[in-house]
Amino acid sequence: MARRDGPGGDLFDRIGLFLAEQRLSADPEHYRFAHAILSDPDGPIARAVAHLVDGGVRLSRKDIERLGGRVAGVGNPVDAQPRSPEQDIAADACGQVDGFADIVRSMYDETREFGRDLAQSAAAFEHLPRIAGLDEIARIAGTMITRVHDAEARLEQATQEADALREKLAEARVDARLDLLTGLHNRRAFEEAFEARDPAFAPWCLALCDIDRFKRINDDHGHPVGDRVLAAVAGALVGTCQGHFVARHGGEEFAILLGSVTLAQAAGIVEDSRAAIAAKRFRDRDTEALLGQITISAGVTAIHAADTIETALERADRLLYTAKAAGRNQVASA
Ligand code: GH3
Ligand code: MG
Ligand code: MG
Repeated sequence: MARRDGPGGDLFDRIGLFLAEQRLSADPEHYRFAHAILSDPDGPIARAVAHLVDGGVRLSRKDIERLGGRVAGVGNPVDAQPRSPEQDIAADACGQVDGFADIVRSMYDETREFGRDLAQSAAAFEHLPRIAGLDEIARIAGTMITRVHDAEARLEQATQEADALREKLAEARVDARLDLLTGLHNRRAFEEAFEARDPAFAPWCLALCDIDRFKRINDDHGHPVGDRVLAAVAGALVGTCQGHFVARHGGEEFAILLGSVTLAQAAGIVEDSRAAIAAKRFRDRDTEALLGQITISAGVTAIHAADTIETALERADRLLYTAKAAGRNQVASA
């Protein structure tokens, strides 16, 4: 991502540049996303973005969603879901802090302006003819100026604190639902998405995917290489499951929520993911050594009206076990 440094490259310029590069409109959602990245250039989201746009590639809608942002004006089954009560509370808190920050900022601006007017009027006293009581008025004005300066300093501090709170809240909203290793939604986000399924996008299906013999990769090549494989498999799943909700469910296991698809269609999408991953050639970035074929097994099931997240996951897990038992690198569905 292009970044302007130096005195001219202030945050707002860089946000504008980022939105232009990513062909994102000046919508508040886009602005919020760009701000989260650019206000913390060394943070996990900025690093994930830098990695994704390495070589000038534009972020996809899915990338942006994965990193906790939203693309305005585009509908898909997951976008269109109603938000959970928790998400509403977090959004309300952000909105309230925004409102509070705006009030404090305008009080700060008004106080500063008042202080400036007062100082100008007090300075004019010096040129007035000396009349009785003028010294007393000048003394009162001096005290007022001191007090106004004092209020100005406190309001400036309150403005900074409100801004910091706003940023922390925005980060917390993202972090709580993001898996930092892969950039995917985490289990919590998945559970929320499951509960918030919109009947308008039925039928819904659920897939559980697990990397085959992953322990061997860690044992043979080390944990950091294992981590990179996890991130690469996550990227491949996102790429092949565009428009669906891909989450890291834990360890080397991924859960996918698919909307507006029959079981056969969902199984087909997951089968395409399996084939794409099996066809990839993974190399150790440091030694250039080939890691051997990496494969996944998956269980795919249709979500029924009577299902809870537990019953649907249990069924997908049983199917995943069937796929493993049948030799791995395959998809079982029912
Ligand atoms: P199977 O085909 O039966 O799934 O075999 P497996 O080796 O993949 O399964 P197993 O459950 O025996 O091992 C999973 C391994 O995944 C063990 C654990 O150390 C590793 N793992 C889990 N989370 C991470 C992670 O975040 N990073 C790395 N590098 N390894 C992880
Ligand atoms: Mg495994
Ligand atoms: Mg596992």
